[in-house]
Amino acid sequence: MQSVAFLGLGAIGRPMARRIAGAGFPLAVWNRTGERAATFAREVRARHAATATDAVKDADVVVTCLSTSADVEEVIAGALSGFASGATLLDCTSGDPATSRRIAERVGAKQVGFVDAPVSGGVRGAEDGTLTVMCGGDARHLERVRPVIEAFGKKIVHCGPVGAGDAVKAMNQALLALTIWGTGEALVALAKSGVSAQVALEVINASSGRSNASMNLFPERVLTRAFPRTFRLALLDKDARIAAQIARDERVPAPLTQLAADLCTLSRKALGEDADHVEAVKVIEQWAGAEIR
Ligand code: NDP
Repeated sequence: MQSVAFLGLGAIGRPMARRIAGAGFPLAVWNRTGERAATFAREVRARHAATATDAVKDADVVVTCLSTSADVEEVIAGALSGFASGATLLDCTSGDPATSRRIAERVGAKQVGFVDAPVSGGVRGAEDGTLTVMCGGDARHLERVRPVIEAFGKKIVHCGPVGAGDAVKAMNQALLALTIWGTGEALVALAKSGVSAQVALEVINASSGRSNASMNLFPERVLTRAFPRTFRLALLDKDARIAAQIARDERVPAPLTQLAADLCTLSRKALGEDADHVEAVKVIEQWAGAEIR
């Protein structure tokens, strides 16, 4: 079996790495905050590497799942000397296409392949191994890492050359931001006009305005006021800004994508770096002086 190194044991990296260990791949793990990797390695019987360079040595597949492409670029630059020739870097960060292309070129000079492979489906999807994985890169590189992706992904789509996975993910995220914000506005306005959120969602979820936000996020997280912290608003802000940048680069007028990015930035500033993405609706509630219930 291919040996795997996993760099970045955050909210979604941990369950993904757990699935890889569970599938029987020999696994080395590294995380910037070392105790997290040490605890995790004990739990899944993986090798805890003290440095990224040590983690990647002898790995056939190196998986990264960090906050941003800039973080990946920095970590990989530091660890490049440790990569085995013929290895593949599978970057599951929701990244930006331009940085991914630069990383691919840099590692390619060392005969290391690169696939950008952002995921969708949240922490629960990672735990269940049902993530959607959108891939960019050479088909040969993708086929080499497919068995590792299958440990955590159910729907695996080759979107195009390096950066294509990042681009699709960013646009998906802009749509997520827009549906959270739009559903929030609708439910606050309805609450003020005397219709409960539960009744409103009963109708919307059997009608054409439904979305993942209205069908899952609002019932499970907003109406319950649970707001679990599984995916940081700061990361959604990063994603929506990548989407807006892609639209600008491609000279596509995209006022809604830009608005999604601006609303995420505004909410992030209001709620802080640790807030969950669904908590953005609290900003609408504050503005309106009404709660979604
Ligand atoms: P977290 O904020 O929970 O974790 C971020 C991880 O990146 C941590 O391991 C952190 O290390 C590490 N990191 C950040 N900056 C650096 C750096 N400069 N050098 C080294 N390590 C660094 O994020 P998530 O796990 O939620 O997200 C990871 C990626 O996956 C993001 O791109 C996100 O957009 C994407 N994603 C997340 C989903 C989710 O539901 N959470 C769903 C789909 C995609 P440390 O522990 O030391 O802070």
